[in-house]
Amino acid sequence: MTEPDGLHSTRPTVAVIGGGASGMMAAGTAAAAGARVTLYERGDRCGRKLAITGKGRCNVTNNCDISEFLLHVPRNPKFLYASLSKFTPADTMSFFESLGVPLKTERGRRVFPVSDRSHDIVDALIRYCRTNGVSIVNKRVTRVVTEDGAVRGIEVGGQFIPYDRVIVACGGLSYPTTGSDGDGYRFAREAGLKVTDTLPSLVPLEAGEPCATLAGLTLKNVKLTMYETEKSSRAVFSELGEMLFTHFGISGPLVLSASARMGDVLPGKYTASIDLKPGLNESQLDTRILSDFAKYINRDMINACADLLPSALVPRCA
Ligand SMILES: Cc1cc2nc3c(=O)[nH]c(=O)nc-3n(C[C@H](O)[C@H](O)[C@H](O)COP(=O)(O)OP(=O)(O)OC[C@H]3O[C@@H](n4cnc5c(N)ncnc54)[C@H](O)[C@@H]3O)c2cc1C
Repeated sequence: MTEPDGLHSTRPTVAVIGGGASGMMAAGTAAAAGARVTLYERGDRCGRKLAITGKGRCNVTNNCDISEFLLHVPRNPKFLYASLSKFTPADTMSFFESLGVPLKTERGRRVFPVSDRSHDIVDALIRYCRTNGVSIVNKRVTRVVTEDGAVRGIEVGGQFIPYDRVIVACGGLSYPTTGSDGDGYRFAREAGLKVTDTLPSLVPLEAGEPCATLAGLTLKNVKLTMYETEKSSRAVFSELGEMLFTHFGISGPLVLSASARMGDVLPGKYTASIDLKPGLNESQLDTRILSDFAKYINRDMINACADLLPSALVPRCA
């Protein structure tokens, strides 16, 4: 790896397709290890999705050990074990701090930049690439060229460019306006790899008309349980937290987490059950309702329930 970077250099050439979090990390790391790296980003700048993460603050990682981290990975956590053992959440934190981004740990051990600016994380990754000598080219790669089962290079603007190695880091299908619209899956298929069906995850859920009339209502400290409708005794998710009603259904942290536990979200496949008072058992709730009715004996139903429930929900629960 000590040869000069010339025509006869033996340094491997690497094309990284995609300038998101994974592409920038891969490009900077390959270049730091001695490769001649070109990063292709189809948009006019790298890290567009990264910039909108964590509501613009970027939840960089969680400040915990790997076993705790994996407990919160809803699908196939084992797959991540090898990578996380090599580069732990603590390594991630040291990495960004060494690039000049101080971090802080908030409730739930979530780690954010002290500045609360996801752009600081984007800029740090671009710096990491540049200081290691990565060339960044703002062009879309249209094809990964393979021959006899081996990668030979890529096609950009109708031209073939040879590379020793190609790293595909095109992202998935979420937020296509940030550049990730499925090219990576196409490249994988064209290279003969099996691509599994894609499923939405961490998304709001559509529900029927009753929810629309509650749009804007936020529920805190409730328990959301999702059942597979046809196997109604089987809860696929049940947690305490916060959710809200939207004009099309339900959303908020609990709902996004629930969606990650659901398989194919087909209409009518799941039923949501919301426990509005998860801290009370049936007899405690009974006592509480009787005491409220005694307190508001001269009021009508809606007002008598005002201490117990948000007013928009009273007609639904009465
Ligand atoms: C709203 C939202 C909030 C999130 N919040 C968090 C959070 O707080 N913490 C967290 O850890 N994760 C969060 N995530 C998830 C996180 O954003 C993704 O896991 C991460 O950005 C994936 O990075 P990536 O590099 O794989 O893909 P992407 O960030 O999608 O990057 C892929 C890049 O490849 C480029 N590209 C695609 N095709 C081509 C092509 N043919 N040629 C050249 N370039 C191409 C795209 O333009 C894009 O820039 C959030 C996601 C969303 C949508």
